[in-house]
Amino acid sequence: MTTLDRRQPEGIFSANDTVTHSVIDDLVTANRILAGEGVLDAFGHISVRDPHDPGAFFLSRSRSPELVEAGDIMRFDLEGNVLEGEGKPYLERVLHAAILAARPDVNSVVHHHAPSVLPFAVADVALRPVFHLGAVMGARVPVWDSQDSFDDTSLLVSDLDMARSLAQTLGTEPSCLLARHGAVCAGPDIRQTVFIAICMRDNAEVLTNALRLGTPSYLTEGEIRQAAAKHDGGAPVARAWEYWARRCS
Ligand SMILES: [Zn+2]
Repeated sequence: MTTLDRRQPEGIFSANDTVTHSVIDDLVTANRILAGEGVLDAFGHISVRDPHDPGAFFLSRSRSPELVEAGDIMRFDLEGNVLEGEGKPYLERVLHAAILAARPDVNSVVHHHAPSVLPFAVADVALRPVFHLGAVMGARVPVWDSQDSFDDTSLLVSDLDMARSLAQTLGTEPSCLLARHGAVCAGPDIRQTVFIAICMRDNAEVLTNALRLGTPSYLTEGEIRQAAAKHDGGAPVARAWEYWARRCS
């Protein structure tokens, strides 16, 4: 793993803007954590809303997450148009744009193809919480199928119509599966979003293993509600973030 590059990007924000500095710093760390934890690999990406402008968000240029540095971060509007920054953007930046536009409560989005999650985007088996931390991904993860409205495509969410359709299926949930493709997770801040993505990875792995052994015991609605509330930000998320950040540094 390469060392974190703490250089500040040029042209994205003024040098004395400590709020944006800290958001970009977390965005770089989030990229490294999700790569280090195997949620992202060569592909996938994470975004964060501009703390000074709810109509804009930050996302790396098209680069593998483990390699992302502060200087790679670009700024986009909520239709995916480049506002600031250099380089070739991710094709699927519109997915972030559409979800952030549809969800004022969401300030960070991750799109991933975590290997443990992918089978649930392929098989006719619902992804539901089977251990307490899995509760943060939602009671029953909805599945968006591009075939329903767009017929045969490359499966990449590469235009706004597809992105808005995905955002609609996500609804008010914290996560959604993309049939034959991957998943998205959406949270109120970047650390919670990373938390959701990693817990989703773990829940998918536990559920697959449990299905091999027999009939899984799923969390009840009440357990999901209480366990999700217990892990909605605060000390547990701060503790996990510190642990994951150390592992990837
Ligand atoms: Zn993808």
